[in-house]
Amino acid sequence: MSGAPHLLVIGGGVAGASVASFAAREGARVTVVDAGRHPASHVPSALVNPVRGQSGQVDPRALEGMHLTWALVDGLREAGVHVPHGREGVLRPVPDDRVRQKFGRNLPPELPHVWLAPEAAPVPLAPGWAHVLHLPEGGWVDGEAFTAGLLTVAGAEVVRARVTGWDARSVLLEGGGVLRGDAVVWCGGSVGSGWAGETGTHRAGTLLTLDHPVTSVPVSFGAYLAPAAPGGVLGATFEAPTPTWREPDLPLPSLRWLLGKADALTDLGGTRVTGQWSGTRLSGLVAGRTANGTWRLSGLGSKGFLLGPLLARHVVGDVLAACQV
Ligand SMILES: Cc1cc2nc3c(=O)[nH]c(=O)nc-3n(C[C@H](O)[C@H](O)[C@H](O)COP(=O)(O)OP(=O)(O)OC[C@H]3O[C@@H](n4cnc5c(N)ncnc54)[C@H](O)[C@@H]3O)c2cc1C
Repeated sequence: MSGAPHLLVIGGGVAGASVASFAAREGARVTVVDAGRHPASHVPSALVNPVRGQSGQVDPRALEGMHLTWALVDGLREAGVHVPHGREGVLRPVPDDRVRQKFGRNLPPELPHVWLAPEAAPVPLAPGWAHVLHLPEGGWVDGEAFTAGLLTVAGAEVVRARVTGWDARSVLLEGGGVLRGDAVVWCGGSVGSGWAGETGTHRAGTLLTLDHPVTSVPVSFGAYLAPAAPGGVLGATFEAPTPTWREPDLPLPSLRWLLGKADALTDLGGTRVTGQWSGTRLSGLVAGRTANGTWRLSGLGSKGFLLGPLLARHVVGDVLAACQV
């Protein structure tokens, strides 16, 4: 190969935009092909939260991933791209001593954290919580602005089209066009996996957008309340998993469940709902080369904004090394 490698990236969510961003920094030419449909990455307020779920799992790469995401947000600001976000930490209330112990077993000492009594938490919580874990380096980020900013600053060529087939060096566009490059990186997310006819673990969820942030600091257990550019959000990924992608919706019983979780977190006061965003996410991380010679970054689950950029940086390093061989 002579000259800069040319990467074809399928999908322009946080995975594909991060791949484009790191590849462009390394001098590669990048073309992103994105259908512009159902990106989970357009979640209005994504938590950057290293302590996950109701058992407090911490991915070994969480701290590095969180720092990289914030570094990218800073880099975008320096490049003149404003990404709404907040870095005032994340609060994880826990219901009892047993759950606190479970969280405690998973917490690595190098991850900054402090346990608070519920009365000492920086936001008023509903009664019934036993302890509150404060993660001062966490926060929230506007998914769409972050993703769009990465793509813009990367200077990648973006082709708005659906890809119907691909191999190690080319992609076939709906309608018949073909793009050729030195490597293909598939970052199609949940919807793309469905379009590709794969089975996997897809989870749908909803964020209600709110006229103001109910809590100044994101609070998460079961569901989350967080500030967001439109005011605030109440959200969760809570529908039963499905083996294939399905158009996300909001069944009434799910709305009741979501409101119940929110009530358990704090007093919702006079908050008004201003809108709804529903999406699906795919679990089952793949970050590397696949059997047919294409590359893949997908299955980021609920950690797209915590680990997506970090994993993209690793994948780009491997892709470019392979292009030199
Ligand atoms: C309700 C909800 C709440 C969430 N909350 C958080 C959170 O708090 N924190 C967090 O870190 N993560 C959160 N996530 C998860 C996060 O949104 C995902 O992990 C992440 O956005 C996945 O990014 P992706 O780039 O892999 O896929 P996506 O963002 O889904 O992007 C895939 C893109 O590829 C395009 N595409 C697919 N196939 C093709 C094709 N064949 N041709 C052309 N284009 C194609 C699609 O149109 C889409 O634009 C949440 C997800 C949901 C649903």
